[in-house]
This record gives sequence, C-alpha cells and structure tokens, in this order.
Amino acid sequence: MLQQTQVAAVVPYYNRWLRRFPTIRSLARATESDVLHAWQGLGYYARARNLHRCSKLIDEKFGGIFPSDPNELKSLPGIGRYTANAIAAFAFDQPLPLVEANTGRVLARLFNVRDPIDSSSGRRKLWESSAKLVCSKPARDFQNAMMDLGSLICIVRNPRCQICPVRKFCRVRDPASLPRKRKRAAIVPLIESHRLCTIGDALLLEQCYQRWRGMWILPRLELDGLKPSSLSPRPIHTSVFPFTNHRVTLRVYRQRAHHVDPRVQRWFRKEELNAIPIPSPHRRAINAFFTSKRAAESHRKRSLE
Ligand code: SF4
Repeated sequence: MLQQTQVAAVVPYYNRWLRRFPTIRSLARATESDVLHAWQGLGYYARARNLHRCSKLIDEKFGGIFPSDPNELKSLPGIGRYTANAIAAFAFDQPLPLVEANTGRVLARLFNVRDPIDSSSGRRKLWESSAKLVCSKPARDFQNAMMDLGSLICIVRNPRCQICPVRKFCRVRDPASLPRKRKRAAIVPLIESHRLCTIGDALLLEQCYQRWRGMWILPRLELDGLKPSSLSPRPIHTSVFPFTNHRVTLRVYRQRAHHVDPRVQRWFRKEELNAIPIPSPHRRAINAFFTSKRAAESHRKRSLE
C-alpha cells in the first residue's frame, strides 16, 4: 500500500483491509471483486491484484506461512528486490540493504553519488552503498534509523547538517544539489468521455478490461457518429486526475440507454453501488450525479408544497 502512496493516506485503508482480510488465507479465498473493492481509492490496482495472487501462492506453496527468505519472497508476484528486502528486514530482522526515497537521499549524500538516482548506474551505486553500511544488530532498527534520518534530518530542502549524527562521515559538499534525477517524461493530456444512463435509481455500468481491470466504470462513449439528440449538449461532470504520465480529463455525458451490451454492461441499483469496486474518478462523478438529483427532487417537492 505504501508504494507511491503516503503513510497518512494509507493508514485507514490498512486498518480496514486487516479487518476485512485478517489472515493470508482469508485474502487468498476472497474474490477479485472483493479485493478491488477494499482497495478502491488507493489507485495503482496492479498492487491489489498482485497481493491477491501473492496470498494464493503463499497459501498453496508455503502452507499459509509467509516466507522469510528474500529469494523466495522475490518469487512472489509484485515483490521485487526492495519489497523482498524490506519484508526480510522489518518482519524477520535480517541485515539486508534497502533503498527507498528517504534512504536513497541519505545514501546519495553520504557517498556523494552524483549519477541520477533513477538511472541504472545511480541505483547500483545506492544499493552498493546501502550494502556497505547495513549492520546486523538489530537490522530493523538500523533501517528504521536510516529512514528517520532521511525524513527528519537529511531532508529534501535545507538538510540539517549541523545536528546530523553522521555528519563526520558525510562526503557531500553541496547536500542540497543531491540526489540528482533524470528529466521527467512530459505530461500528456488525455480526454476520456463516458456516459451516464439511468432507469429510475438504477445505473448502467461497464466492466473495465484495461486500466482498471475488473472494476466497474461508467460506459465509454465514442462521440463520433452519435446523433446529437441522444446526448446532453454539455458534460454533466468534468474532473481531472493524474494517471502515470497522463493528465486525464474525465467528461461525463447524460445519455438515454438506447444500447446496452449485456456481455460487459449491467444495471446496478443505487444501494448496490457501495458494494462493488468502482475507481475513484468514476465514483466521484456518480456521487455528484446522485447528490444533484436528490437536491433537485427535494427542491421540486418544496416548490409543490
Ligand atoms: S551531513 Fe547533511 S547531507 Fe550529510 S547525511 Fe547528514 S544531513 Fe545529510
């Protein structure tokens, strides 16, 4: 959960997740829809799918016991060198190198690594530096201390070198200039149009097979070839959200349900929507629609009284 996501945002999800899936076996036996539902709002859904596949493998191959060997950990879906070493260090107290955002910054400065830290040479140097430093007693305290050093002392801007406990070992002369990073890919704007169709309080949704595979989204809308009369002239909802290096503008149009594809589309009653996985940008659009519908209905009632 913590990959690409801040701790404060993760805590409520983590607690809810553990209440819903208290054991590896309970996660392994859940449906993918349940897992995606518990994850919705955190984004990067590949992590949830990997965690689900991972729990099934641990259940089948390791008898439900989480492996502690980093090589066995790396054989599990979604677990690379960093996650394997982090699990082995924090859960099993093994002295293994670790490089993440905070420790990467500390290591780049301590060892004066001038290569971009997201280049292969920069990454290699950071991992080698971490391997030189790591100590075995107790390994998890060492890694916690490195992370704390990065988040409290060796901070991104204005590092507090005057009070730094490792100052005399530090090789960098101009700490604020490190770490270096490669130029980021340009942000690509993208417009996505979807339709919102209702019958009474039932809403038409479509199962997604691409970005949010397995989740339910508002049906995609191909604007080309549509009769102008079948579509509201303006979107009823517009929002913007980031996705990898894209800036996606979501536009939702009110439309009559003249065509339903039963292979991928389904009607859901309003009360059912909370129990199915829907990605946040689409859930926000749906909630905004029902809120304004409710407000319009109560306004109409009041004006009739
Ligand atoms: S001396 Fe400064 S640059 Fe070096 S590790 Fe400490 S805070 Fe970071």
